[in-house]
Amino acid sequence: MKKYLYNFFIFFISNTFCCAFEYGYTINDFKYVKHNHSELSYQHTWCAKNNGIEEYKNNDLTRVDCLTKYNAVEFDFANKWAESIGQALHYQKMTGKKGKVVLILENPEKEMIYFKRVKDLAEIYNFDAEYVTSKILNLNKNKKCPYLDCKCNK
Ligand SMILES: [Zn+2]
Repeated sequence: MKKYLYNFFIFFISNTFCCAFEYGYTINDFKYVKHNHSELSYQHTWCAKNNGIEEYKNNDLTRVDCLTKYNAVEFDFANKWAESIGQALHYQKMTGKKGKVVLILENPEKEMIYFKRVKDLAEIYNFDAEYVTSKILNLNKNKKCPYLDCKCNK
């Protein structure tokens, strides 16, 4: 009985946490997360809307995805939520502007939990956080975004 419960627990956990992202496999069998629009498509669109400078170069040669009047912004897909915080905080230190995570949610219902984590930490550690979706940025107009190098155009 104990074993049964244990197996059930493992089944539950692995199905809850392992499969929140849609994975694909490269020809060499490397796992990667499939994206309809590239990270850059979200970055370009958001940064243009917010009059930011893209790929702003810091003194240590790291690059801020988008530097706006008030923020040093890092973009990441939801599966990289933890990494995005580290990068935003580093950009904050380097630029003197408030760090900001813009988390990309491709499946907002499933992935909101990751934004919630970032948002909660943003309040405690005093950086900014926002999420975007393809709908919010209107990337699906005519089913394709304006960036020809994006997968949605291939
Ligand atoms: Zn696209």
